[in-house]
Amino acid sequence: MSDRQVKLVLDGKTGEGNPVDTGIPQGSPVAPILFTTYLSGIFDKVEEAVPGIRGLSFVDDISWWADGTDSTAVAAKLSAAAAASIEWAAENGVAFDYGKTEAALFHKKRSAPRATVAVGTNNVPFNKEATRWLGLARCPALPKGTPCHPNERRQKGCDKTPAANGADGTHTSQLQEGHDSVCPVSHHVRRRAAVERRLCHWHARAGGGNPAADQPGSPGNNGLLPDNQPGALSMESGLRAATAQLENRQRRFGLRLLSLPLGDHARQVVGAPTEIGRRLTNALAHGGPTESTVLLEKPETLEAELLQEEEEAEAKAEAERTRPGLIMFTDGSRLDDGATGYSVVWKRGLTWAGAKVHMGNNQEAYDAECAALAHALELAAQRSSTPERVTIFSDAQAAIRRMASDEPGPGQQYPLQARKHITTLRRARRGIVIEIRWCPAHKGVIGNEKADEWAKIAAGQPNIHGVELLNSSGRTEVRAAPLPRSLADLKREISEKKWAEARQWAGGRASKTKYRMPKSQKPDGAVADSTKRLASRYYQLKTGHARTGQYLHWAKVRPDAQCWWCKCPSQTRDHLFKVCPEWRTQQKILWAEVLKETKRWKSRWTVRDLLADGRCGRAVLDFLASTDVGRRVPLVDEEDNAGSEVSEWELREHQERQEEGEEKAEALGAEDEMGAGEGLPLFLPTPDFMAAAGED
Ligand SMILES: [Zn+2]
Repeated sequence: MSDRQVKLVLDGKTGEGNPVDTGIPQGSPVAPILFTTYLSGIFDKVEEAVPGIRGLSFVDDISWWADGTDSTAVAAKLSAAAAASIEWAAENGVAFDYGKTEAALFHKKRSAPRATVAVGTNNVPFNKEATRWLGLARCPALPKGTPCHPNERRQKGCDKTPAANGADGTHTSQLQEGHDSVCPVSHHVRRRAAVERRLCHWHARAGGGNPAADQPGSPGNNGLLPDNQPGALSMESGLRAATAQLENRQRRFGLRLLSLPLGDHARQVVGAPTEIGRRLTNALAHGGPTESTVLLEKPETLEAELLQEEEEAEAKAEAERTRPGLIMFTDGSRLDDGATGYSVVWKRGLTWAGAKVHMGNNQEAYDAECAALAHALELAAQRSSTPERVTIFSDAQAAIRRMASDEPGPGQQYPLQARKHITTLRRARRGIVIEIRWCPAHKGVIGNEKADEWAKIAAGQPNIHGVELLNSSGRTEVRAAPLPRSLADLKREISEKKWAEARQWAGGRASKTKYRMPKSQKPDGAVADSTKRLASRYYQLKTGHARTGQYLHWAKVRPDAQCWWCKCPSQTRDHLFKVCPEWRTQQKILWAEVLKETKRWKSRWTVRDLLADGRCGRAVLDFLASTDVGRRVPLVDEEDNAGSEVSEWELREHQERQEEGEEKAEALGAEDEMGAGEGLPLFLPTPDFMAAAGED
């Protein structure tokens, strides 16, 4: 703390040091200690001046706690405490920011307190949001007739077990028998945090403190329904667990660094012998060489036409048209085992000639398609007589688009090579016409079929000497070392890992009998286009968390699992979709539609599988829209319900019926601001959206 100096650094130049004899460094832990010491006098002073008041502080935030029989009494004590604080502050060279003062009241009455606290010239009302009715602490999990949670006993003044108090710390000591209120006033926002922590504490006690609260029988205590099936919800909503997201973040960051042009220092971070370098290498699970990209002084335009017809039929006609000059077809292929290869083919007399190139196991179809286009141009440029026209067909739109730009990014080497070969062609023949055209795949265009066939052969036949086999007009070139791993391949692995991790996480958190994990990341289009209300019923049924007799009984909302329509003893999803006579007509339509879509009979389906099958989405939605399945729950008989409060389910049911009424009114053209948006399609994340959200 002694011999300290300040120096000014400006534009890389450091000035002379000047001695500092007051103040302490920014962020020094000494600061709050000194401050607290300095401020400590205020507590004795105020507690002496106002009987029963207690102080609580954190550095420069001070709270005063008081209790009393009503809010006016509490406010009076707090006003006195504020006056004493201000007096002490004036004597000690301290000023409080009155504007930041807040007051909160904990009380038993439902009505909002009217009294205000005088702080200097301000009158501070009790904050309505922070002011809580103590009924909150009541734990509904307790059996009826048991009056008392320890907190509650104290509030009611019927404390028979004093030993129960204080066991969990300070909060019970704030409550005085027969008194209504406990109240803090503070001079800073800090107060709110303190109050909220206190509330959370109560909450935790009310919810988790009693083992009964975790049982399915107490759905009302914390607003959460039992059996939330987080796994199913995560899969259906596209929301992923934070741990998986974080790991994916690291991988994406690593990939982004690797995608930077050569010479960029940040690119060298991955794999560097530093903490972060090792971390990123581990996250990517990839060492070894990676496809590199370069930063160009100035991008070069492609001196060739890139053409794509709007209509598929038109494109097909173009691909089959006889045209002058050299016509080539290219294709890239990636087999299930990850082997890639490509081909370039052209007609020689009545037969086909061409090149097959194997690319190894660390590339993508995208790389192969791009490489094929570049190689086709190379083969054209190598001809002894340069043709007047060169037309190259590819079925890969992404690869054609890549040729247009030579900017850094996945596959950059191929547009660069293409530019080189085009320059050669243009030098060899002035006025040459070069076209790269899109041709639809698997539409019977002979050149495309041939290229496809050869690309698969190339992918499946690695040369024993290396990974690249080039066989064009009798020549063979062998690449001795594997290609560096492509960025596109790395990217694919990252998204596959993310999906696999999401499935794994969810799989352990979903009931296997109720829910089947989706095979693809694509959400169900039919459900995404339906209304929010219908979709939510669909998802409730899909996750097994729906208004069925079986579920409501299990959740102890209904006394039994009986079907309220046909009185069958167990109303399950299968019962509602297949058996219940109430919905016989609708079931017939549903299963006829399912049979048409899937060629599979009703008897071979379980509802779990039906709801997991994307082909049946439309039929299931129609079924739900035309029935009350998963929607209507009749009230339990009055005598069963005597004396108890209306259950949360029933309240919700009532509310939804009202909302449905509003929705109908809306459909008839009535304008209702409150209900606006209900009829809109449900938003579901599409794969594109998910990909975009994963990128920054
Ligand atoms: Zn029934």
